[in-house]
Amino acid sequence: MPLWAPKLIIEKRYARSIQKLMQQFALLAHSRADPADILDAWKDYAASAAFQKAAQDIAMKMVTHLFSDGQKSWREAARVNSRGREIYQALQEELTGQTGVVYHELIGQNARLIGTLPETIAEQVTRYVAKEQQKGRRAEEIAVDIAKIFPEKTKARAELIARTEVSKASTTLTRTRCEQVNIRWYVWRTSEDQRVRDSHALMEDVLVCWNAPPSPEALNHERSYGRYHAGNTFNCRCYPEPVVKLEALHWPHKVYYQDRIQMMTLAQFKQIA
Ligand SMILES: [Zn+2]
Repeated sequence: MPLWAPKLIIEKRYARSIQKLMQQFALLAHSRADPADILDAWKDYAASAAFQKAAQDIAMKMVTHLFSDGQKSWREAARVNSRGREIYQALQEELTGQTGVVYHELIGQNARLIGTLPETIAEQVTRYVAKEQQKGRRAEEIAVDIAKIFPEKTKARAELIARTEVSKASTTLTRTRCEQVNIRWYVWRTSEDQRVRDSHALMEDVLVCWNAPPSPEALNHERSYGRYHAGNTFNCRCYPEPVVKLEALHWPHKVYYQDRIQMMTLAQFKQIA
């Protein structure tokens, strides 16, 4: 398992927890025969303190897991590095510093995102109900459909949120920790599964500066989605590997610099780094 990759288990657990929370909505659908009643019941539950608290708990578990997992990676990096003491020191003071601020922000963002899930699903269901009513189907039949369709829709949504947000949060934590110890560059790593898109495969093993994210699509002559760092876009399992020690890389090395990927020797790189 690569040292800096966010563990897949964190993503799986996050997806499962979100789905479990959403089961409550499925239960509300099962006991009602009118689609309008179902939607009302969902709205009430989504606005309840119990639901908000559960979303907050789930987000906190995920971010905390990532946070401590990342600490292990940094400790491991510090162990084999001359800057070890500086890194240890930074880790010890984390929760009172900038990383602590980011940690709480990430929990808030994720909790809010989970909180929007019922509404997103409700909108889909509302459209479905309108369409079926036009066909002249009876309310009771449509209500049965909703109870059936709902779990599939939430499962797909929960998986997308987990895949995208775990990756993004992990990149954000790594970046913040890099900033604390003045590490300006990272190596873009792709995940090993076969879903890596071409534009990201192009970025594999490329040195990237935290101050200048690339547009992988533009580099691959595709329509650009804008500039972003490894792991920072939807459905992306890439991750940044902080460059703790330049000499540990193979040289010459690929570097993303001035909007293209170039080969540089260590001496050339040191001039721009
Ligand atoms: Zn990717």
